[in-house]
Amino acid sequence: MNSTSFYTDRCRLGMPRLKSTLGYLLLGLIIFVSPVNALVILQYHHIDTDTPAITSTSPEVFKAHLEYLKVHDYEVVVLEQALQEKIAGTDPLERTVAITFDDAFTSIFETAFPLLQDYQYPFTIFVSTDFISENSKQYLSWQQLSEMAGAGATIANHTRSHLHMVRKKPGESDAIWLLRQTQEVEQAQNIIETHLGSASRMLALPYGEYEPQLIYRLKALSYSIFGQQSGAVSAADLPAVIPRFPMGGRYSDLSTFATKVNTRAFPDQGKVINPILGKHQVRPLLGLSFPDGNWRLKDLACYGPGGKLTLKKTSASSFAAYSQQDLTPGRSRYNCTMPDQNGRFYWFSQIWMMKRANGAWYPEP
Ligand SMILES: [Zn+2]
Repeated sequence: MNSTSFYTDRCRLGMPRLKSTLGYLLLGLIIFVSPVNALVILQYHHIDTDTPAITSTSPEVFKAHLEYLKVHDYEVVVLEQALQEKIAGTDPLERTVAITFDDAFTSIFETAFPLLQDYQYPFTIFVSTDFISENSKQYLSWQQLSEMAGAGATIANHTRSHLHMVRKKPGESDAIWLLRQTQEVEQAQNIIETHLGSASRMLALPYGEYEPQLIYRLKALSYSIFGQQSGAVSAADLPAVIPRFPMGGRYSDLSTFATKVNTRAFPDQGKVINPILGKHQVRPLLGLSFPDGNWRLKDLACYGPGGKLTLKKTSASSFAAYSQQDLTPGRSRYNCTMPDQNGRFYWFSQIWMMKRANGAWYPEP
């Protein structure tokens, strides 16, 4: 991407009523799209058939994913290395995929690891260290993590206790809350280093939840930060919260897998949209802007919890996207796609978090 041609300035607005004019949009929300190749990061949890469907990929489907990558000549990369070398460098990221697992469930060692060794594919496991230290049958042991690390796996940070990082305790100041979050991350980092000798400075956010202050603090501590919003990573323009494609349940289907590993990135210049919605922000507004180029703008489509989002043209090359129905308490997402000239898709996803009407956080299902 020619960085002089594009910039990104994204923010979000919740709008009490969409009768408000789209002038609100001018508070910031612009996304430019660049024609670059992409690194696609896959996020798995269980490779199992007896675990919760939404976070599980069956061994057969997982093997089919690996086989697809092999047959179609994808390069499966060491994530940390790809971020350091390829993102910063000049290597094209055509057909480049990284494999990650969150939460360190035992099926990674028992089922995924042997398959990954057969294919000689590197992978990353994001661990919440309290889970490992519990010695529960559900989670990997330090011994198993050590064995996989010895075979080339990267063991990285998923916080110490897998908390909801954005949630403040009653009466907790911003400063104390931020300190508590950084301690969660730094303690997990130290525990991994103690057990395994080293720890990658990569952090996967539990539940993919974040807000700007937290991201700025963690970036200042030199972490690469991964979310759970889908999308590809552009070579020239790394988002502050790096997207990954969640795999699990129907999201593991081979038909959509092919589309996902072929996606191209909506660029991002590191500015972070605050995804926590205010009380009246029931239909948050997402803006999309495109630089001069041969874009298939008529095929731009965005979807949210209520189906297709309304797209209002705000200039010759920019749009405002918003839901046609009120979002409900919990996490939700807007997903936007647009085909390129060759049938691949640019893909962007934005997470939103809405508290309940009484101001309390939603329960985790
Ligand atoms: Zn997790």
